[in-house]
This record gives sequence, C-alpha cells and structure tokens, in this order.
Amino acid sequence: MLLQLGDLLKSATGTKKLHNIYYDEIIVDEFNIISSSGVIWLTKINMGVWVNTKIQLSIASNCDRCLEKYNQEIHLESDDIFYHFDYLGKNPELYDRIDGPEFFYIKDNMIELTESFRQNILVNMPIKLLCNLNCQGIKNKNNRITNTK
Ligand SMILES: [Zn+2]
Repeated sequence: MLLQLGDLLKSATGTKKLHNIYYDEIIVDEFNIISSSGVIWLTKINMGVWVNTKIQLSIASNCDRCLEKYNQEIHLESDDIFYHFDYLGKNPELYDRIDGPEFFYIKDNMIELTESFRQNILVNMPIKLLCNLNCQGIKNKNNRITNTK
C-alpha cells in the first residue's frame, strides 16, 4: 500500500496527517484479507515521518481443528519511522541499515506500508487458527467427534 505524503514533508515538525483505511485497501500477498478498517496517523519528524497505525483486519483462514473456512479478526497497532533520504545522507550509520527488513524510507514523496503490515500480521496471527475457541474438530456423519487435538 503506497501512501502519498503530499505537503507533509514541507510542513513543520509535529504536523499530523490522518489517513482513513478503506475496507479493501490493504493487500498483502500471503494473506487473504477480506476487509480492513482503521486509521494511519502520519507525523512529520526531523528524521522523516512517524507512522502510527491502528487497523482491524478480517483474514480468510482455515480452522486448524475442523478445517472449515472462517474469518480471523486481528488488530494491528504499529509505530514505524520512515526515514527521509536527506537525513540518511547525514547519518551514514543509518544508511548502512537501509536493506534491513525493518528499515523503511520515503521514496518519491511516498511510503510503502505493505512490508510493515506483513510483519505485523505475522506477529499478531494466532499460532493456532480456530474458528471458535470451543471448536470440536472434524465431525463425521453421525456427528461423532473424530478429531479433538
Ligand atoms: Zn473449527
């Protein structure tokens, strides 16, 4: 997801800009995201832009017990700094980390948030996917429980 910064970088430090997330706006390849909602606050800081996200996602998943499809709701909250290239130029120790997986920078007055979302989904997805906490597992035609691991 690319977000245009508009005039934010020309604004005074501390200036905030709000982006409301559309229901189909967040796309991350590995996950089947059905809907999204929430906010992204952008704040101009001397290093670039501080990005604070609060997002609710509904992700199509398969239950680990009954194997049925269900929608896993997850809540993401994250804080990321997207560095300005001018700032990186003056801070070579930061510039050396530019290829790291959790290092973000501003490109063409835009920020690319997909990798941050991807990392946050991985952290917040439950280890065991359950359609509900009391899921009884796979039931056969007689409604007997055959899988209750
Ligand atoms: Zn289930």
